[in-house]
Amino acid sequence: MSVQRVGYCLLAAVCLLCLSGCGEKEHRHETVYLAEHSPTCTEDGLAGHWMCVTCGATFSDEAGKYPAPPEVLPALGHNLASEEVTSATCEEAGLTRHTCLRCGYEEEEIIPATGHLFGSWECVLSPKCETAGEESRSCAWCGTSETRPSDPLGHEYSEDNVCIRCGKQLLASPGLAYAPVTGADGNFKGYSVSLGTATASEIVVAPYYEGMPVLSVEAAGFQNSSITRFVSYAELETIGEDAFRGCTALLSIDLPDSVVSVGDGAFYGCSAAETLSVGSSLGEVGRAAFFNLQSLEVIEVSKDNAVYAGDGSCLIERETGKLLLGCASSVIPDYITEIADFAFFNNEGISEAVLPAGVSRIGLGAFYGCTSLTEFTYLGSEEAWEGVEKGKEWKEFAAFQDVRFGG
Ligand SMILES: [Zn+2]
Ligand SMILES: [Zn+2]
Ligand SMILES: [Zn+2]
Ligand SMILES: [Zn+2]
Repeated sequence: MSVQRVGYCLLAAVCLLCLSGCGEKEHRHETVYLAEHSPTCTEDGLAGHWMCVTCGATFSDEAGKYPAPPEVLPALGHNLASEEVTSATCEEAGLTRHTCLRCGYEEEEIIPATGHLFGSWECVLSPKCETAGEESRSCAWCGTSETRPSDPLGHEYSEDNVCIRCGKQLLASPGLAYAPVTGADGNFKGYSVSLGTATASEIVVAPYYEGMPVLSVEAAGFQNSSITRFVSYAELETIGEDAFRGCTALLSIDLPDSVVSVGDGAFYGCSAAETLSVGSSLGEVGRAAFFNLQSLEVIEVSKDNAVYAGDGSCLIERETGKLLLGCASSVIPDYITEIADFAFFNNEGISEAVLPAGVSRIGLGAFYGCTSLTEFTYLGSEEAWEGVEKGKEWKEFAAFQDVRFGG
């Protein structure tokens, strides 16, 4: 280190000695050269520079004429080399280690599992009419394969009710009666079916009768009969008026996707029916078609039905938000605006009903005869309740006395 006494303090403010009140007006810097302090991966360095040993001021020149802060040499950052320790596979994560070639610093990086790259599903076992098939696909990387069942095909009947694939013959219940149906153009287009002299409690309807499709259930066709099940393989389009009226042993009401309309009173008083399932095409429900279903527990409506919805196990007219029919498990959706006439009429299973605040009308006999309905809540205020229109005998013979308010 060479100490030299050269130069003058040019800026009194810079000179610590002057500031400390030494009174020396002409402080002379004594500079020493500080060699470069090299930067590391993570810390800045300083370039070589001159510094006064007395006052600490720094200069770019030995004579101390040009004050200047020393040049900062920025940290270099790590110089990482990567090494794959374990490779990621379809199902397991891998590990890569990065090591700094300069300082030896190490960091590890988890490489996520890649997931399988499955090809498309391929049939390995063809489905049959009644049995499921199987499909399989495998991973292009690891070969892992997975399988899933494919749906049975179902039978496809020819006009003589024989399956064109498997040869199975479908026999309709003996004794059923058939009547010709004419289309709007006046032409004969198929048949309607009715009980006739059939005595079976489980009725089976075949797709065709004498080579023509069975298209409908005759008006009053099974009225007051003791059938327990009605199984149709026909593409029924209409269920006639009173078709199943008073079938007190019928266990379920199934309207397949082909059914477009249900006539007035068609299922009135089917007091044993526990389920109602509505297909995608139903667009017309006649008056009192589903009234007086004492045991109804579940209502299901195809998601594809544009006219009706089955939210909360209720039958709802989408356009109006009107609840047409309820059952024991109904939870009235909050968008409902009206409870239709006789919607829960004589339902003996429902124990609790909660009416949304938006309901403005309760129809005639809507909760008439709900003998298990002990709790009835209206989510609006008591004042709003006064404004709700209530049809005649809307709660006659229902189990609850007072309406609860909440909301
Ligand atoms: Zn100085
Ligand atoms: Zn480093
Ligand atoms: Zn894989
Ligand atoms: Zn078949």
